[in-house]
Amino acid sequence: MRRVLLWMAGNPWLRERVPRLWFARRAVRRFMPGEDLSAALDAAERFRRHGITTLLTHLGENLTRIDEADGVADHYLGLFDEIGRRGLDAEVSVKLTQLGLDLDPDRTYTHARRLAERAARLGSVLWIDMEGSAYTERTVAFYERLKADCPNVGIALQAYLRRTAGDIERLLRLDPDIRLVKGAYAEPAAIAWQRKADVDRSFVELAMKLVQSRRAGRAVRIGLGTHDVRLIEQIAARAAAVGVERGHLEVQMLYGIREDQQRRLARLGYPVRDLIAYGEHWYPWYMRRLAERPANVLFVLRQMLP
Ligand SMILES: Cc1cc2nc3c(=O)[nH]c(=O)nc-3n(C[C@H](O)[C@H](O)[C@H](O)COP(=O)(O)OP(=O)(O)OC[C@H]3O[C@@H](n4cnc5c(N)ncnc54)[C@H](O)[C@@H]3O)c2cc1C
Repeated sequence: MRRVLLWMAGNPWLRERVPRLWFARRAVRRFMPGEDLSAALDAAERFRRHGITTLLTHLGENLTRIDEADGVADHYLGLFDEIGRRGLDAEVSVKLTQLGLDLDPDRTYTHARRLAERAARLGSVLWIDMEGSAYTERTVAFYERLKADCPNVGIALQAYLRRTAGDIERLLRLDPDIRLVKGAYAEPAAIAWQRKADVDRSFVELAMKLVQSRRAGRAVRIGLGTHDVRLIEQIAARAAAVGVERGHLEVQMLYGIREDQQRRLARLGYPVRDLIAYGEHWYPWYMRRLAERPANVLFVLRQMLP
């Protein structure tokens, strides 16, 4: 089921048609507050009341025309203005293919740098999402270059990839902001763990690698991008045992998923950040959310009932 949903996520014919289906549009609302920016910012204000900060992303990926990237960058610059105006502790996360990486890497870099500099003026951070494995090396190298120019940038790394321990080793010297996630794409066994138990074990080992380097004095920021509360608590217990308190483990979860746990963890003293996605290009992103928990497909089907 997971593989089928991930195949559907990448299918251009479906990408064109599914978003027009009324029940799909109704179902996606579970994972996003709305398609427009103001819905996302209003949601961020609601989270703020619970002591939860946010991470905003305007959905879109794999652009086919480079001039679209200029529009995306302008949109994000406007988003930073709104974040500043509303006084939100909201960071921004982008996909490099949404800024044109497939088409013009130099222009992508110029855009990313402009966004990071704008974030810096707000005392904020620009995050780079990690996409499928065809982009891993390019994304890590892009991050190294951007980090040298702008210290306030973060990167997502995927625990299912066998290479990630090496990537962490490579990035640690930069005092990086790292969001560790399990990984959302279909990847072959040659490069990625396939069994959930192996991915979970890798996630804990990599998180502990970050914890140990923090303990050794590195200014690494640790983001645990998972809804797996059992893993978060296991990592927190092991971190506390070596003297790294939960206040240094930022829990990052997605809008609409385990919000009760987000509030509970915030009350327990974890910094919690909710990622709010918005925009009309939600199809591939939404299909990956279904693939993470195929039971969500039943929810979509239920939307067809009166
Ligand atoms: C803040 C954030 C940023 C992310 N950024 C990236 C990125 O840049 N690149 C990337 O490849 N992946 C990214 N992901 C997705 C990630 O890789 C996983 O696919 C996703 O988080 C599901 O795995 P999990 O860690 O929650 O654990 P799982 O073991 O899949 O889930 C643990 C529990 O969480 C709940 N849950 C998980 N997913 C769902 C869902 N979709 N619907 C309902 N309940 C659910 C279920 O109760 C499940 O039992 C991100 C995830 C988060 C939270």
